[in-house]
Amino acid sequence: MRKFFAVNHQWRYFFPELMVLNHQLQQRDKNVTAAYTRMEAGNALKLHDERQAKLKQHAALLWSAEDRLTALRDEEQRMVRYICQQALSGKLQLHGPGGKNLYNDLVGIVEGQLHVTREETSDMTFNQPLEDFYRTLTMQVHPEGHSICKCGGSAHDKSVAGCLRLKELDTGAAPEGEPGPDYSYAVDEVCAGCPQNIRVKALMPYWAAAVDEAMLALASSSDGVRDAAKERVAFLEGVIAELCYEN
Ligand code: SF4
Repeated sequence: MRKFFAVNHQWRYFFPELMVLNHQLQQRDKNVTAAYTRMEAGNALKLHDERQAKLKQHAALLWSAEDRLTALRDEEQRMVRYICQQALSGKLQLHGPGGKNLYNDLVGIVEGQLHVTREETSDMTFNQPLEDFYRTLTMQVHPEGHSICKCGGSAHDKSVAGCLRLKELDTGAAPEGEPGPDYSYAVDEVCAGCPQNIRVKALMPYWAAAVDEAMLALASSSDGVRDAAKERVAFLEGVIAELCYEN
């Protein structure tokens, strides 16, 4: 029992102190106390502890990966809810083909509720169809920062995605076989015409910088570059005018 206690004391405390153990055991010879802690059982216990630590470390890694994924999903859902609620309250205008469709869908849900619940309702009853709708939505800000993509993983979403259709033309890869939007084919002009695309005024800095860049190309000595720059400027000014439009 004394040996078992000595082994535990030395391996289970972060800062084991031999003299403390010596005192606990009321041992005269501290070399005997030290010998207790070097038993075979001590090695076994150490191995056991190390194995447990590795298992816990592995579990912690798995947990943190899952946790990160959940946190990302939660964050995305918060963005979905914020954008939809701001749009419904009139504080945020949704532009782009996807933005207009989304706004119409939101208004449709609210109007349907107003009709059904005219007599008496609670906020919860009123909000439930909207909450259910939010959960079906996905939204990612495009990595270049020009717009928001609401393309999810459904076959329908992918079949109308501008970037996937362009990729299909380029490589023959069918949209339904893709995991989701392919940003390498999603330049701003492709996204601008895509039914999944939402543009909001908060992303104006991207478009302003793009106009400045295109303006520089207008000074090119090459006719081809100047023509392409003119087209680009016209496209960008159209997007900016839409973003600046206020009802
Ligand atoms: S083209 Fe742009 S908006 Fe459309 S699915 Fe691809 S990334 Fe999303």
